[in-house]
Amino acid sequence: MSATRGFVPAHVATAQRVREVSGDVSHRQGALFMGEQFDYDVIIVGCGVGGHGAALHARSEGLKTAVFSGRDVGGTCVNRGCVPSKALLAASGRVREMKDAHHLKALGISVEGDITYDRASVAAHAANLANKVKGNLENSLKALGVEVIEAKGVLAGPHKVMGDGKVFTAKDIILAPGSLPFVPPGVTCDEKTVFTSDGGLRLERVPEYVAIIGSGYIGLEFSDVYTALGSEVTFIEAMDRIMPTFDPEIARVAERLLIKPRAIDYRTGVFASKVTPGIPGEKPVTIEMIDAKTKELVEVLEVDACMVATGRVPNTKELGLEEMGVETFRGFVQVDENMRVLTKPETEGGEVVPNLYCIGDANGKLMLAHAASAQGVSAIENIKGRKHAVDHNTVPAACFTHPEVAFVGLSEEQAKAKGEKEGFKVGKSIGHFRANSKALAEGEPDGIAKVVVNKDTGDLLGVHIIGLHAADLIQECANAMAAKTPVSELAMMVHTHPTLCEVLDEAFKGAVGRTAH
Ligand SMILES: Cc1cc2nc3c(=O)[nH]c(=O)nc-3n(C[C@H](O)[C@H](O)[C@H](O)COP(=O)(O)OP(=O)(O)OC[C@H]3O[C@@H](n4cnc5c(N)ncnc54)[C@H](O)[C@@H]3O)c2cc1C
Repeated sequence: MSATRGFVPAHVATAQRVREVSGDVSHRQGALFMGEQFDYDVIIVGCGVGGHGAALHARSEGLKTAVFSGRDVGGTCVNRGCVPSKALLAASGRVREMKDAHHLKALGISVEGDITYDRASVAAHAANLANKVKGNLENSLKALGVEVIEAKGVLAGPHKVMGDGKVFTAKDIILAPGSLPFVPPGVTCDEKTVFTSDGGLRLERVPEYVAIIGSGYIGLEFSDVYTALGSEVTFIEAMDRIMPTFDPEIARVAERLLIKPRAIDYRTGVFASKVTPGIPGEKPVTIEMIDAKTKELVEVLEVDACMVATGRVPNTKELGLEEMGVETFRGFVQVDENMRVLTKPETEGGEVVPNLYCIGDANGKLMLAHAASAQGVSAIENIKGRKHAVDHNTVPAACFTHPEVAFVGLSEEQAKAKGEKEGFKVGKSIGHFRANSKALAEGEPDGIAKVVVNKDTGDLLGVHIIGLHAADLIQECANAMAAKTPVSELAMMVHTHPTLCEVLDEAFKGAVGRTAH
């Protein structure tokens, strides 16, 4: 990267002059590195969960830290993602539960009269929670002495970030700018009748009939919310099966539990090629669908609303990367396993850019909140000179539908392909919620936990769960995978009775040829 070290673009030179004239950096004193004095030890650009996680760890390591927040502390997760979506899922899940007279009756409960909800209050629950969590994040940063700079940060050369017309310097810089919803070509979003998750989370109305483009975890969670609140849903999925990112066996159970009993239908193998917004109560949204292979028009759907849940793109434009000689790949900043930014993809001979890191959604390694935060911690470890790499194969993922779906590691298909290539045998074992006392006590006996193992070594290769509290259950498996605990040892571990964890106990024991009951 020596080629970029001496580079001083025009806007940087201007900014440097601003700084010299204003002289406003005298109060800041940071690291001394190779004879250079910096304002901070580390500057973090972006204050989502990734940036926040990095900042907290930086402070615990005694580093003088500043975060550029772009006036959006909490980022996607807190303001437009995990937090408000889980609030909507919690409220709408209660509505579904209370409307399920059959289920309640089985527990000896009857509810008189209609179950109603107030849309605005449900929406306010989500918005208030997001604000509260955002406030907590802000307070934690302040309490730890992290300087929060409200401006947007732009790279202004090695060790330099510019914001609000000033240049700030740091020995190390971490980019954590996150991601934005992806809107495919041909789709016009008015964020009223055609919207991404950003608009959907505001729950400005509950449409009678809504199409959801994409059946990944975001689309699926929204289908859970909408059907609980009374909407009908049609999924439009480009792949030839619904929920294509799930292990196929889990997707089949998910279809039985999350799709078939609900007011949901779907089209697969089709693209929504043109989506035109409507006018609520007057004109429907129209969706033209083409065959994913032949590209021929197959159907035009008219709906009240359309949610676009087709994935997310990195928010890496206008970060000053090009000026630093950094090429992105489809917008994703390329990093090595230590989160160090590369000039281009590793496969194309990308070289490490000294003292520059990128974490979270923007590097595309694993677009999840806890992965972003773990990468932030890892970047700081590396900055401190302790080589560290996040093991992304053991990071769990969850979809917070009712019931939840969660997994870690390889699907059975992927494990078999790996086994064939590397010459090992793959085994699987299933634990059932219907055989679990706690699940039966809750009246929630649906679901399975599937454990996929390397039969030769006993290593866990993947675990896939659909059932009550799957998102909590998966953690035991992720920890076991990270600790490389073989299934023979897991099968000997004692699980609390009666808990849902015993579903896993059954699966672990089954994997070594024993029975749990
Ligand atoms: C509807 C929805 C539900 C989700 N649910 C879950 C879930 O249940 N579990 C889960 O693990 N993940 C979930 N996610 C994904 C999760 O939100 C992201 O993986 C996570 O937010 C990524 O964190 P990040 O720090 O990389 O980026 P972000 O959270 O996107 O934060 C980046 C921040 O940087 C700011 N920024 C960008 N450029 C600059 C700049 N130049 N200067 C200053 N600031 C800048 C942005 O405005 C933003 O505030 C969900 C996402 C969505 C959309």
